[in-house]
Amino acid sequence: MSENDGQQAGSSGSGAADLRIGHGYDLHRLDVLAPEGEGRAFVLGGVRIEHSRGPVGHSDADVLMHAVTDALLGAIGGPDIGQLFKDTDPAHEGQDSAVFLEEAVRRVREMGYSVVNLDATVICEQPKIGPHRSAIGANLARLIGVGADRVNVKGKTHERVDAVGEERAIEAHCVVLLTAQ
Ligand code: MG
Repeated sequence: MSENDGQQAGSSGSGAADLRIGHGYDLHRLDVLAPEGEGRAFVLGGVRIEHSRGPVGHSDADVLMHAVTDALLGAIGGPDIGQLFKDTDPAHEGQDSAVFLEEAVRRVREMGYSVVNLDATVICEQPKIGPHRSAIGANLARLIGVGADRVNVKGKTHERVDAVGEERAIEAHCVVLLTAQ
């Protein structure tokens, strides 16, 4: 199994700081809320935001939670979120994506690493992320088990061009740094 192929933290023996970086990216289509459309309630980083459109997906379609989960899994050279949690599995229908993040955190700890800091960018035209960034950051920090000052969430628009700018999709990027415990 690929998740067991990596070395345990601190096993390099080089004496250099044992750091690992991970990157995660995700995109979900946005649609008007069900039942008129396919959109689920708009949840970002586990924080519910009132909006007329919402992400389409098998789980709760939390694009930021998925990007953060993939960044953590990537940093430890693990399987990605789609490999761990099949989007065809009925058990994950409407699943709270905090479950995915918690599994990634468990694997990071099992490998002997802890999170130094995490920086994420959410790209969408609406809703505005700014008013929610501190609540989202605090929730992600709680799930990861670090102080809120270790987690940063930014919002950007896509200048009204392409699918994201036309409010048909939402994207998230995340970079995370780990250190050996
Ligand atoms: Mg996703």
